[in-house]
Amino acid sequence: MTQGSCLCGAVRFTIDGRTTEIGMCHCSKCRKVSGVASNANLMTARENLVWNSGEDKITKFEMHDGWGTWRCSVCGSPLPKLHPGGGAYWIPVGLLDSDPGVRIAGHIFVGSKAPWEEIAGNAPQLSAGFGSERLD
Ligand SMILES: [Zn+2]
Ligand SMILES: [Zn+2]
Repeated sequence: MTQGSCLCGAVRFTIDGRTTEIGMCHCSKCRKVSGVASNANLMTARENLVWNSGEDKITKFEMHDGWGTWRCSVCGSPLPKLHPGGGAYWIPVGLLDSDPGVRIAGHIFVGSKAPWEEIAGNAPQLSAGFGSERLD
């Protein structure tokens, strides 16, 4: 089990079950919602995530295509968000309070990374999503 929480601690959740490896997304939307060069995410099935507190503090912003961000209405931290379709949660890995046991499987959407960003480490650098052309 892995616990996660927002900056102020109002929102807490538990992941109990398998997750994906971590994807570091360098797309322009992830830059906007994170404020940094890339966004570390993993996914887990909807039934694996339990909200322990603060579910009433979730503020949702969603674009027409379902992409968006859920945030703590107290501190503004990003929160786990249901993936469009509703079968899985997309989870910002920085929220986790312990080691989830998975590692970075790839850098995705490197084709649209910021011009000032330098990518470190040995994980594959992919032009778009997983399965796309390798750029490294
Ligand atoms: Zn908070
Ligand atoms: Zn992205």
